[in-house]
Amino acid sequence: MKTIGLIGGMSWESTVPYYCIINKDVRERLGGLHSAKIILLSVEFAEIHHLQQIGDWEQAGKILADAALTLEKAGAECVAVCTNTMHLVADRIIQALSVPFIHIADPTAQKIKEDGLTKVGLLGTHFTMEQPFYAERLREKFGINVIIPDEADREIVHQTIFGELCVGRRRPESQRHFQRIIRKLADRGAQGVLLGCTEISLLIGRDDSVLPIYDTTEIHAHALAAWALSDSDITHGMQVSPA
Ligand code: GLU
Repeated sequence: MKTIGLIGGMSWESTVPYYCIINKDVRERLGGLHSAKIILLSVEFAEIHHLQQIGDWEQAGKILADAALTLEKAGAECVAVCTNTMHLVADRIIQALSVPFIHIADPTAQKIKEDGLTKVGLLGTHFTMEQPFYAERLREKFGINVIIPDEADREIVHQTIFGELCVGRRRPESQRHFQRIIRKLADRGAQGVLLGCTEISLLIGRDDSVLPIYDTTEIHAHALAAWALSDSDITHGMQVSPA
């Protein structure tokens, strides 16, 4: 079994499910007392969020690239970042590494494609919904088109993520907002909804949505476990970014 390097803490609320899902998958596959080999480097999120707010992606990228290198030196055989937003600096991280980087969007897009969907709604932070790094990857690598909520709803989604979910709050009213926003995406032709923020599944589950849900936290964590248990760098057709 290979050792997984996780950069977590963005927020730590959503890093916890990664640890559980990966370990459960390994136990399910190998049984008994088997558990995953994981090295977790958890960053100080307030520092990262400040850099997001002032748009200093260079410095944020440097912090995460340094974290990735620390994981590699500690024995991680791959590196994954437990947040969608910070994949904005994925190239910077990949440059620092000589082990594979497992991109959160790839196994998610792979699953959407396998299910035959070509148009999905994307929920996430302003950065993930509005900047090209995420939607472009889905379109160019996987042929999946993305639609996003209108401006007012994007603001609700973004504020709920940082003001509530990242600090451990779940409000029924926010859940109702997300349900309404997903219904609007369905009315505009979305065939599924991509939870492109690792905290959203702390609020919305399969039963809460009129559309099929693609939860990046769950899919990414499953892909990491599968990768750790596989012999090759290709899992379920998932292309792992070359070192
Ligand atoms: N965890 C969230 C995401 O998946 C938001 C926190 C962050 O800005 O990294 O995008």
